[in-house]
Amino acid sequence: MPFPDTEPPRDCPRCPRLAGLREDLRRSHPDWWNSPVPAWGDPRAWLAIVGLAPGLRGANRTGRPFTGDYSGMLFYETLLKLGLAEGRYEARADDDLRLIGCVVVNTVRCLPPQNRPLPVEVTACRPYYVATLAALPEVRVLVALGRIAHDNAIRAAGGQLSQHPFAHGAEHRLDDGRTLLDSYHCSRQNTNTGRLTRAMFESVFRRALELRP
Ligand code: SF4
Repeated sequence: MPFPDTEPPRDCPRCPRLAGLREDLRRSHPDWWNSPVPAWGDPRAWLAIVGLAPGLRGANRTGRPFTGDYSGMLFYETLLKLGLAEGRYEARADDDLRLIGCVVVNTVRCLPPQNRPLPVEVTACRPYYVATLAALPEVRVLVALGRIAHDNAIRAAGGQLSQHPFAHGAEHRLDDGRTLLDSYHCSRQNTNTGRLTRAMFESVFRRALELRP
């Protein structure tokens, strides 16, 4: 389920570049979501998975994180395999997939061009990330997908990046008592080049399960 009290308004104006792209896409693809994509998952989550941002034909089209594009296939296959989801992933927001004990929170809620948000956009969206995590007091473990998500998670927890460098499989103790695990993002670019294998991705979530309270 989404977390409406912590979500930005549909026409959030804080990032003019992203708001402009959103408006363009509402005209060219009126049947797409084309709005900030809310966090999604189990309100009693112990695990928060920190994504980067909606993909053009994924979450930006369907309105649910990692739903409808290439990244979602490995992502949801992994969660289903490890018991962090149940049901059937059918690449659309109205399938019967349900997350179990976990939630997906994007670093940036709106689609960025070329999947690359600017630092100022990450900063602008951080209050929504912080509010979402604050509404999930049972979260003890975070998995950051990629360096931008990692940096955001560290900053949001009041940590210093110099003390917490990103590395696939790295584990960081945050000042708020939570543990952050790093993974390369499950993007097509990373999986096609072999930078991230299925086994590498799974191993991060297996470690998260070992840390489950
Ligand atoms: S990325 Fe976040 S802060 Fe920026 S316009 Fe979208 S919802 Fe607002």
